[in-house]
Amino acid sequence: MLLADPSPAPPTGVPAREVESRDPATGETWRRYPAPSTLDVVRAVEAAREAQRGWAATPVGERARVLERFGRVLVERRLEVATIVSRENGKPVGEALATEVLVALDFAQYYARLAPRRLAPQVAPSLTMSTLLKKVQIEYHPHGVAGVISPWNYPFQLAAGAVLPALVAGNAVVLKPSEFTPTSGVILAELLAQAGLPDGVLQVVPGDGAAGAALVGAGVNRVSFTGSVGTGRRVAAACAALLIPCSLELGGSDPAIVLDDADLERAARGLSWGRFSNAGQTCVAPKRVYVEAGVFDRFTAALAREVGRLTVGPGSVEGTEVGPMIRASQVTALRAQFDDAVQRGATIVARAPADGLSERSYFPPTVLTNVTPEMRVLHEETFGPLLPVVRVADEDEAIRLANASDFGLSASVWSGNAARGRRVAARLEAGTVAVNDVTIVAGLSNVPHGGVKASGMGRSHGEQGLMECVAPRTVVTDRWAASRQLWWFRYGRTHVADAESVILAMHGASIGTRLRATLRLLGLMRRGA
Ligand code: NAD
Repeated sequence: MLLADPSPAPPTGVPAREVESRDPATGETWRRYPAPSTLDVVRAVEAAREAQRGWAATPVGERARVLERFGRVLVERRLEVATIVSRENGKPVGEALATEVLVALDFAQYYARLAPRRLAPQVAPSLTMSTLLKKVQIEYHPHGVAGVISPWNYPFQLAAGAVLPALVAGNAVVLKPSEFTPTSGVILAELLAQAGLPDGVLQVVPGDGAAGAALVGAGVNRVSFTGSVGTGRRVAAACAALLIPCSLELGGSDPAIVLDDADLERAARGLSWGRFSNAGQTCVAPKRVYVEAGVFDRFTAALAREVGRLTVGPGSVEGTEVGPMIRASQVTALRAQFDDAVQRGATIVARAPADGLSERSYFPPTVLTNVTPEMRVLHEETFGPLLPVVRVADEDEAIRLANASDFGLSASVWSGNAARGRRVAARLEAGTVAVNDVTIVAGLSNVPHGGVKASGMGRSHGEQGLMECVAPRTVVTDRWAASRQLWWFRYGRTHVADAESVILAMHGASIGTRLRATLRLLGLMRRGA
């Protein structure tokens, strides 16, 4: 049943009739999918709920084995998956293998190992009043049907990173992949079916934003959303109205700080890869670089050399390092941010050669200096191959400017001194910080990933990512048989003394006080008080 259409502003009004997977290099449509109506989405959730009962009753060890088999299937079909991702996202096939297939394999292996141990019922951990008087166990139950809404920039691994922990926890999932990359969601479901996931437990609805809004309102028990801040706000508002939990992995404007003792060549190579791989369309890419004045010129020169030798072209062509952007509209949006910076006085210090490539699909990797805080490139998310570099007086100014942002997804610090790097990292307002590396944390399966401030809430990946897929249920049973509990009615004349005994047994100042109070309580319990 449709509970509500909670989206205050459905993004596209009328749902698309079909979604097209297009090759970003050519604009050619190579797959089409009928877009689901609101009713189709509701039916997918109902079918998932039906299948979820049996799946939740399947022991967690067996569910974990499906993930293990999925890993084996994915290794066998790795090139096919990477080629699909490259075809509809535009990234080089080798990059799809390294940043999509490999990362998804890590998720499968990590959650298959973690889930049976971590989701086993736990005895309440410490000696408190509750464990003295009661046996307390915590069980971890799936939410039911999870809605997963994913973006197009890492269409396979981001979907896998949300879907796999939800499944192993006993949820059914309805996945709404991005309308730009539907095939990456469809192939994920195909691989899981091949690995033995029962029919109906994972449903894919390859629609547009209207289908995403419909999914949030279609009776799901939890939403895992990855995408832009604007859409994230709409999803959060819809979930709040329905009182369903959601996690939001949103955009960023990640700062990088290059300190004067950094290995500048390494910093230039790392930041070039971090910013320009995936055509700059990475949530955790470095999007603003702050460089200490003493090394600014040498760092900028090293970065310019790196950028000048990048190979730009279609992702399907061997040797390509930077592919096309996903859609012409993304190129246009980035160009507007670039134009704003140049009109306000920014200088282009490096541009990768992109001769003969369509301006509708490609934006040549570009480095800007002389950038100032009012320019859009420093306070908005730039989602493409454009990198502004700012000269700062010292470490403190770098930290102040890095934190002067609405976003707080990730950050990086570059220093030859590990202790200094960690000290600066500790002062940055971000969900994750890398020292002398970049974007790496988002690809690690075993640590939490997510942002602070407008970059989101909740965490994916790691143990926390798994625990967001379950609702803990505390089950309390008697440790001592008695016809009534001490604190139930029939307060009587010893009620105050009884209550005091409980307090003194647990929190009395001396061992003697605690012992006397405990003995008095044990006497009461033995008498069945
Ligand atoms: P987007 O917000 O436009 O779309 C994301 C998904 O939401 C798509 O599947 C879309 O169809 C769906 N959607 C659109 N409107 C909706 C609505 N009203 N209700 C429900 N679903 C709706 O984002 P995008 O352009 O696909 O992705 C790029 C953005 O995602 C960037 O801002 C990037 O930084 C961010 N991102 C964040 C992370 C992270 O881990 N924090 C990872 C990848 C991308």
